Amino acid sequence: MFSNRQSQLAQSPISLMRLCDKHGRYITDVRVAITDRCNYKCVYCRTGNDGAQYAELSFAEYLRIVRLLVSLGIEKVRITGGEPLLRRGVVEFVRELAKLQTLDGRKLDLAITTNGHLLPEMAEPLAQAGLNRITVSMDAVDPQKFARITRVSNGHENVLAGIRAAKRVGLDPVKVNCVLLRGFNEDQIVEFGKFSRDEGVVVRFIEFMPLEEDRVWSPGIVVTLDEIVAKLSEFKPLKPLPQHTASETARRYTFDDGVGEIGIIAPVSHPFCGHCSRIRITSDGKIRTCLFSLFDHDLYGVMKRGADDDDLIRFVRGVVEKKEARHHIGEPGFIQPSRSMVHIGG
Ligand code: SAM
Repeated sequence: MFSNRQSQLAQSPISLMRLCDKHGRYITDVRVAITDRCNYKCVYCRTGNDGAQYAELSFAEYLRIVRLLVSLGIEKVRITGGEPLLRRGVVEFVRELAKLQTLDGRKLDLAITTNGHLLPEMAEPLAQAGLNRITVSMDAVDPQKFARITRVSNGHENVLAGIRAAKRVGLDPVKVNCVLLRGFNEDQIVEFGKFSRDEGVVVRFIEFMPLEEDRVWSPGIVVTLDEIVAKLSEFKPLKPLPQHTASETARRYTFDDGVGEIGIIAPVSHPFCGHCSRIRITSDGKIRTCLFSLFDHDLYGVMKRGADDDDLIRFVRGVVEKKEARHHIGEPGFIQPSRSMVHIGG
């Protein structure tokens, strides 16, 4: 179960401070949702009728939570939502996060996941504030198909401009995430292969998971890793790239001429829970130890009752210790969590 990185951590003097679950996995990665509002209504994510459902904390409160987590070994912070760029003050939040250091004195790895709609104006201030990387969600290269998926008419040009602005200001790498649904946008696979090559971005296909508001998921809708690899290989031969870390979610490929990079995140057909290093903080300050947790843990409630940092650390350690071994998508008895992706923070 231990990766090389994890066994190095276990031998280091600060290992005792680090968050670890009962399965021996070190937790080094947190995703913080700063809102569950979103300006897109992607058909596979939202019903189109429901809006925000959960509260937002102040940035000072998120910062306190992240500081505590960093003191427990978190090294990578991804800001997400809902749509995080809707939240005023996000640039200042990044600036504050960029001042934090990991337990061994390095800068945090700071990323944002966004639909990219507001990125043309925000890429530069975010990069200047200290953001390292950005992931932009884009489920079709074709503008009409993009509008049908997002249910927003002028999105495509903004998102494309946002991706190009992110590249221009040096956010590196720029990753473009695409969720594929059978019969809907699987015809975009090769188009995205070309997009990666033309735009110099990493394109990552994500298998659709049962985390949508509308309960439309079925195993048959999922376009699997094997199918994506086969389709791209018809366009141009693919060759695998080495993983950066054991806990990396994507399997990486390039084409035979080395131009373009494709990642495939396959939680359904090839689960990677054994190497999971992540926890999530929802916009209302709950800890989720797995996307598919049936319960969340009210860290903000403990904070509101006046807990000091030591109390909060004890609470976080107790929660993380009990992190689920794995998810059970597709197994008999699988229960879909009551919070959907947009309200958890993907
Ligand atoms: N608004 C931001 C964005 O669009 O990236 C951040 C939040 S969004 C929920 C994060 C990511 O989750 C997006 O890439 C989205 O496509 C993905 N996502 C949403 N529902 C999903 C599902 N059921 N299965 C897999 N990915 C999903």
